[in-house]
Amino acid sequence: MTARIIDGKAVAASVQESVRADAAMLKSKYGVTPGLATILVGENPASKTYVGMKQRMTQELGMYSVGSHLPADISQDELLKIVRGYAADPKIHGILVQLPLPAHLDQETVLGAIPIEKDVDGFHPINVGRLAMKNREPLFVPCTPAGCIVLIDSVGTKIEGARAVVLGRSNIVGLPAAFLLVHRNATVTICHSKTQNLPDVVRQADIIVAAIGKAQFVKADWIKPGATVIDVGTNAIPDATKKSGYRQVGDVDFENAKEVAGAITPSPGGVGPMTIAMLMRNTCDSAMRTAGLKK
Ligand code: NAP
Repeated sequence: MTARIIDGKAVAASVQESVRADAAMLKSKYGVTPGLATILVGENPASKTYVGMKQRMTQELGMYSVGSHLPADISQDELLKIVRGYAADPKIHGILVQLPLPAHLDQETVLGAIPIEKDVDGFHPINVGRLAMKNREPLFVPCTPAGCIVLIDSVGTKIEGARAVVLGRSNIVGLPAAFLLVHRNATVTICHSKTQNLPDVVRQADIIVAAIGKAQFVKADWIKPGATVIDVGTNAIPDATKKSGYRQVGDVDFENAKEVAGAITPSPGGVGPMTIAMLMRNTCDSAMRTAGLKK
């Protein structure tokens, strides 16, 4: 059996089109333009690329984008002042602090300074806490795991009652992905670097979310036939045929896994595009909330 390939670009495009339509409606009916402020500290090339992509997409969808690019040695107080400035600005509905921050800055304090109503990355401790609790609603959930759930739904995989295995327990991907699956009534196992007999654990899964950052680590014979596989990993491996000398692969051995899985995301072209699409959705939802259109 060859798996259905989950086209993250197509699913992301449809999310983006719904954001574009909602942003246009907000502007024409309520005079509100959803606004996203990005804060980038330092010169990390990957972070610069991600922030640039987020800013471009915000503008492309008819929303307001503003950014602060700050020196790597900025003090915690100065950074907090900038976060608080955006927090008080009514034109801004979402504030994104690009991670990772330089080591001298306290990530928890900085993220905690974003009002939960503008926490479009979903990393504020209150939003995270609500996500981790039963019968509580965070105002926003982190974009990459939220995108994983949309991708699972896009192929009609039933989450309720399914056995899900999440590989990785990071605050950004693994843990929130596990909470989202539990909220959807999956039975979830979270694996990490100390997990014993990992292949056997993965073999139980109807749904696999792989977020460990290890190239082609999950093998085809770990996958239950017909399982839905969401590969969050973005890893560079050497490839002499490419101009850059490398190519991107996921955490799953895609070429072999697609012969066993029922549905699978490629990497690139799977989860990656969803992360920005969900950020756009969160920003627009925040503006809808200020216009009284959303709880
Ligand atoms: P991370 O913070 O480095 O966390 C990696 C997790 O994997 C940790 O929980 C670690 O366990 C676990 N792990 C490491 N080696 C393992 C092993 N051999 N067996 C089982 N578990 C193992 O990574 P992350 O930020 O979650 O990112 C994971 C991957 O997703 C990376 O490739 C990253 O580039 C990618 N990513 C993609 C997007 C996107 O938009 N597409 C967004 C975010 C991340 P311990 O906790 O025990 O250390």
